[in-house]
Amino acid sequence: MLEIRNLSAALTAGATALALGLSLAAAPAVAADKGYVGISMPTKSSARWITDGESMVEQFQAAGYETDLQYAEDDIANQLQQIETMMLKGVNVLVIGAIDGTTLSAALENAAASDIKVISYDRLIRDSGNVDYYATFDNFQVGVLQATSLVDGLQARFPDAGTWNIELFGGSPDDNNAYFFYDGAMSVLQPLIDDGKINVVSGQTGMEKVGTLRWDGAVAQARMDNLLSANYTDTQLHGVLSPYDGLSIGIISSVKGVGYGSGDLPMPIITGQDAEVQSVKAIIRGDQYSTVYKDTRELARVTVGMVQALLEGATPEINDTTTYDNGVKVVPSFLLKPVAVDATNWEEVLLGGGYYTPDQIQ
Ligand code: BGC
Repeated sequence: MLEIRNLSAALTAGATALALGLSLAAAPAVAADKGYVGISMPTKSSARWITDGESMVEQFQAAGYETDLQYAEDDIANQLQQIETMMLKGVNVLVIGAIDGTTLSAALENAAASDIKVISYDRLIRDSGNVDYYATFDNFQVGVLQATSLVDGLQARFPDAGTWNIELFGGSPDDNNAYFFYDGAMSVLQPLIDDGKINVVSGQTGMEKVGTLRWDGAVAQARMDNLLSANYTDTQLHGVLSPYDGLSIGIISSVKGVGYGSGDLPMPIITGQDAEVQSVKAIIRGDQYSTVYKDTRELARVTVGMVQALLEGATPEINDTTTYDNGVKVVPSFLLKPVAVDATNWEEVLLGGGYYTPDQIQ
């Protein structure tokens, strides 16, 4: 597996270099009116990043900017290569949704040396002074919403359980957001754990135990399988804190595999994030309890505004100057508001806001 990943990284890097060589030889300098923006996204394996990329390209182009959008398929070497290539092609700004927030320091030193501005997109780039601004959602609040919805669901579905038995999942330990989601969630859950109202039956708490590398649904599914066989053969599971829809899908298959959601064993309350189509359908079916919707079109809008301001010598609009310390500096940020979505409000929020059309959810 490892060899295959490395091979594919090497091939991709080679292909990128080749493409660059050709474009440098054949193409005239980029015909950007107002500027040239490199957009480096982590992966296409999750629909949200596809929407982020498309929204940015659309909005940047409408505002008169040239764009180069690349996806790195969760391969760190690939993302670095794509960023280096963008710099060689002469971008004025880099907008980066990092795979691993700690791996970009050297690349960003080169960016600063060439006076290329850097926007950290959705995920904080750590360990670098060369990050100009950060556009994201209120990530702590995402976790608060997830845990609040978990508790509401537990109360609604299992009002008579003296103690709710739950398990916790965290996001990828190389993604700064994962800690904010987890800490936000624990700000709600920890007091209930301390009171004995909630029991994490496996005893597995803390990001080092519950993190899920690269946000991989298969990893979450395998961990849930293990948790169930080690702890729940004669104990009922009532809920699972899941920080992302892609993990929730794996968790749902795992619990269904041992009989939850059939006979007299109700589905546990399972949370999520991103309001991905598959998960909205799972919410409608009753397999998933909730998700957290983040309007990526708005994130794109904020980012385009930041870039415009930067390139025009103005000051980008920010609303947070204290929260996001990346280890070298506190990165000035704009935080958007996440919204909790469940069976009661998905239509109003997701269809009403035009994020999806009804036929997408059929
Ligand atoms: C994003 C989430 C997303 C997760 C997995 C996080 O950094 O903020 O929206 O669910 O990555 O892609």
